[in-house]
Amino acid sequence: VLEKELSSSKLYVKKFGGTSVGSIARIEHIADKVAKAFFEGERQVIVLSAMAGETNRLFALAGQVDPKAHARELDMLVSTGEQVSIALMAMALHKRGVKAKSLTGDQVQIHTNSQFGRASIESVDTDYLQALLSQGVIPVVAGFQGRDSNGEMTTLGRGGSDTTAVALAAALSADECQIFTDVTGVFTTDPNIEPGAQKLDAISFEVMYEMARLGAKVLHPDSVSYAERFKVPLRVLSSFEPGEGTLIQFAGCAPTKAKIVGIATSKSLALVSLQGLKEQDDACAQLFHQLAQLGVDIDLMTKTQHESQMLSFTLAESALEQVLSELDALSSRLDLGPVYVEQQLARISLVADGTLAMAEVAASVFDTLGKQGIHVKLLSTSEIKLSVVIAESDLHFGVRALHQALALDRV
Ligand code: ASP
Ligand code: MG
Repeated sequence: VLEKELSSSKLYVKKFGGTSVGSIARIEHIADKVAKAFFEGERQVIVLSAMAGETNRLFALAGQVDPKAHARELDMLVSTGEQVSIALMAMALHKRGVKAKSLTGDQVQIHTNSQFGRASIESVDTDYLQALLSQGVIPVVAGFQGRDSNGEMTTLGRGGSDTTAVALAAALSADECQIFTDVTGVFTTDPNIEPGAQKLDAISFEVMYEMARLGAKVLHPDSVSYAERFKVPLRVLSSFEPGEGTLIQFAGCAPTKAKIVGIATSKSLALVSLQGLKEQDDACAQLFHQLAQLGVDIDLMTKTQHESQMLSFTLAESALEQVLSELDALSSRLDLGPVYVEQQLARISLVADGTLAMAEVAASVFDTLGKQGIHVKLLSTSEIKLSVVIAESDLHFGVRALHQALALDRV
């Protein structure tokens, strides 16, 4: 009877982020929540991040030994953070009379490719998880980690625990994947920048994906696309405050007039411009081939031809040094002219729920930012988004002005 009851109750995969497990007191708080749901008969799989700050601390330790440490060893190191939180959580649950078992990605059999530091999940074995669930045991799984086909430890990239949770929810056909965090849901923009930011009750996968990719940190973009692909109902909620959070869902019918849903931001960007790039040969191809091999994410690109050919792109400031030394090495081969660099830049991106009337939006963005004396250094658009690059010091003013101009404080 018990088993029948258990298997007919709803199954939730619940992921708790770093701040939610950032201290013993917080772990105890989450354990209370999980225990309450357990005694109410809910079936749960828990996925945890490392305690707040721990992954950064581990990366910094590696940096002290060797800034060019092998990616395999880095994964071995940084995956330990999650193992601390799962073991502590299992202990806290046991103390409450709840059956629970902490599991590494390897023990669950979360299979990934072999790209250390940025691995993708290829499949998840559900046998062990199902067996535990049917015995009334809560699996407490380490996020962010998996194993490749050689049995090597891999990690999924910063923020990857969200993806672990979605992948488990997909594999188990869970009723919902719930991402618990320190905010009450997905907002129209970062509430730390604009206090008038509004929580959204629902958002489409498409808009959420763009927001995440363009800097909204509430969900990892891979987790959003994974959830969309496998049709996993996904929800973002607060670990500390009650509420329904934000449901990520498939868009209804296309709106007749697209509207801006949110503003995503990203800081610490650099703009690199190259002049005098030769036109005839494959200089551009060679250049980007090299950059691709470094694994550097290049963003907003422009290539213009005036007197000579000019190429500009943005990238994370943290990758700048590496890219500049690569450009230096390529300089004579490709006959590059001077390289100009601007730092401390930020990007503001407006994301819409449909195809934007781009000229109209661009006009109002230039108008709004212009009135604040904010200079747009670079602009790029795609069907549903418009991004501008500005000085980082203008970010807060720019976001607030746009948020107000678009009436996002009144959604
Ligand atoms: N602990 C990892 C990180 O900080 C993964 C995660 O929290 O999602 O990136
Ligand atoms: Mg996160």
